[in-house]
Amino acid sequence: MAESRTVPPSKKRKLIKEAGNKCANPGCPVTYRYEIHHIKDWAVYKVHNADDMIAICPTCHSYVHHGRLEISDEKLYEWKKIKRIQDTNEKTDQIFIEKGTQSSMVIGPLTIKSKHGAIPFRMLDQLIEYRIENGNLYFLNIKLKRSDGKDFFTATHNILESDLPEGVSYDYYAGKVLIKADVEDGFLPGWAIKEIRRFDPKFATNEITVLDMEVIDQGVVKIAGLVMVAGDAALVVDKEEIYYVVKGKVRPWIFSETIGKIPFFPRVVDYDGSNNNTIPYIDFNPLNTKSIKDK
Ligand SMILES: [Zn+2]
Repeated sequence: MAESRTVPPSKKRKLIKEAGNKCANPGCPVTYRYEIHHIKDWAVYKVHNADDMIAICPTCHSYVHHGRLEISDEKLYEWKKIKRIQDTNEKTDQIFIEKGTQSSMVIGPLTIKSKHGAIPFRMLDQLIEYRIENGNLYFLNIKLKRSDGKDFFTATHNILESDLPEGVSYDYYAGKVLIKADVEDGFLPGWAIKEIRRFDPKFATNEITVLDMEVIDQGVVKIAGLVMVAGDAALVVDKEEIYYVVKGKVRPWIFSETIGKIPFFPRVVDYDGSNNNTIPYIDFNPLNTKSIKDK
């Protein structure tokens, strides 16, 4: 009896694993959608032989069949031979940002515009920094750490890398990254959650948005969720608020549209300097007492 056209799920899983839980093309970053290609044409052979099949993303798959620059069978067999070390916690993705006439980052209620780029936030060695070159917005650096000091998310020139503990959710589609964790996962200490709940009682009742980053327009990236913790300080972007709390300090800083607390900085920071070496940044340094004004 001839095999069904549908690839058996166990065979599909095996091939995705063989490809390293990403598109088997070593030059392709796609980690979230796979198609199984029969290198030996299904229509001719009518057999699902894993040695002659490969897991690739739909875009690469279309290049196998219709590419002006064709991906050959020889190349596909070469990709199958690549020995991949399986580590499902580590992910590499890419973020593409369409060119715009104006480039900027929106972080909670803040909009940071700059001809050259900026470091919206820095807290000790954690930061989000971007640069504008010829109208293109690039992430020069993103570095985020868990409260135990371990790196969990970095970005360099729009390549995103994450290494998350089991159970933390990482969701990605072109233009969006969403990382969510349980309250107990160690991304935000209990004292910080308690402080923030004084202003938003519903904050982190079961989940914390660790990072919510999205391209929302040409040249515009929005950070709607963010958690940065360093020692006794925590910076949290949650919807339209930015909270900066330092353990033991009487009052947190809040940048908000709705709570009506500060607006400590202008809502739109417009940087028009010309020297790339002096790009502006907002420094949240718990060790530098000058940067922490007691309200
Ligand atoms: Zn691909």
